[in-house]
Amino acid sequence: MKMTEARNLLEWHQAKVRGAAAQRGLDEWRAREEELAARRKEAEAKIKRIGIPAENDIDNQIALKLAQQELWLVDKDTERFMEERFEKEFALRESKQEWDEKAVEREAALSREKLELYYKIGENIQNPVVEVKRRSCMGCFLPLSVVKMEEWYKGKTLVTCDECGRILV
Ligand SMILES: [Zn+2]
Repeated sequence: MKMTEARNLLEWHQAKVRGAAAQRGLDEWRAREEELAARRKEAEAKIKRIGIPAENDIDNQIALKLAQQELWLVDKDTERFMEERFEKEFALRESKQEWDEKAVEREAALSREKLELYYKIGENIQNPVVEVKRRSCMGCFLPLSVVKMEEWYKGKTLVTCDECGRILV
């Protein structure tokens, strides 16, 4: 099957979705890092606040032990986090770059008119562009009419689903 404009639109859409998913993954790593830093800061502040408790000040001696334990735990968690992050963040960055590049490349081949249609449909509906499988729209999963199928098969213009309005590829 040749690269029709509809197919190009779908691949552009998919590249955008995957690029965004990789970005969300990167954001999560960043958020976890900030969370660990905040925990460490809190434990350190607590230790500083308690200072050196008197020998008969049992409450503060316990509080100090707990804060020191928390600090130790945070450092262990941070160590594990750094090891895991090293590989996974790298893979996410690579993936994001790949999908972003593909999206730019595909978008360059799309007419403004097609992009406008995509965005217009996308205002009200998720995944504005979907594939046709088993003579059905893969957006709403309803079967397409014979006339629709013919129109889609010829592939001369962008065809939209009568039921949900999505662009059919
Ligand atoms: Zn549909």
